[in-house]
Amino acid sequence: MTIHFSCTMCGRCCHGLRLPIGVDEAMAWLRDGGDVQLFCEAIPWPEEPPADNHLAWYKRRRSFAALSGQLPVRVIVSLMAAFEGACPNLQPDMRCGIYERRPRACRVYPAEVNPFFSLDRDSKLCPPEAWHTQDVLQGEDGEWTDLEVAGSIAGMREADARDAEVKARLCAILGIASSGLSNEGIVVHAPERERLLWALEAAQSAGTGGETGIAAWQIVSHRRATLELLQSAGTASRPASELEGTTAKFMGFVPGDPA
Ligand code: SF4
Ligand code: SF4
Repeated sequence: MTIHFSCTMCGRCCHGLRLPIGVDEAMAWLRDGGDVQLFCEAIPWPEEPPADNHLAWYKRRRSFAALSGQLPVRVIVSLMAAFEGACPNLQPDMRCGIYERRPRACRVYPAEVNPFFSLDRDSKLCPPEAWHTQDVLQGEDGEWTDLEVAGSIAGMREADARDAEVKARLCAILGIASSGLSNEGIVVHAPERERLLWALEAAQSAGTGGETGIAAWQIVSHRRATLELLQSAGTASRPASELEGTTAKFMGFVPGDPA
């Protein structure tokens, strides 16, 4: 289905966000005085998937190898620019104050970066009139017709793959080693700004040649059944309730057990 779209500059997508950004963008965001969080999720990965499992290989490209107990896992760490209310770069006239160097995710919205997701207009913040235009965002063939959107999507996918090992080093430097179970929840880590910037610079400058090593990660869950399953698989796991009082927070995507 052809999707028509033209931005009305309503500014809704610049409020109360967790904006996925690359390592380069995270360093710029922090230097500008913004906050960045790490969203961590782990996928059990007992063996490599078959070559035709394109979704699994997509996840593999943007993750790094780790161990949880005896179980091999892949960890996806998403760096998120975080702000409540209006983005610190949003001007009173709803223009972006860093338009020329705004993050790739800002250039992509409301398109989808994940090739396995279809654009669902109802889930987007754009007002109805934004979709009633002659401008085409996505053609019948699924291709993004806007060159900046298409280029930014490609840039985000490349950054995801390029940054995976940098993120492994980043977590090792920061001592971060707890995640949610993919599709069930994530663990959000929010290191202090200066420390995170220093750690990102150190992780980045370590280069691609060095071995990161296989780190030991704990998988956090808010569901008893999941914890039992993880334990029976020899995984290092931990109830979400144990994060209370720490700097890490658990965010569940499915209902958990009553406390
Ligand atoms: S950086 Fe600019 S485009 Fe992105 S959320 Fe902030 S104001 Fe909006
Ligand atoms: S919510 Fe949609 S229409 Fe509004 S500024 Fe963002 S991209 Fe444009």
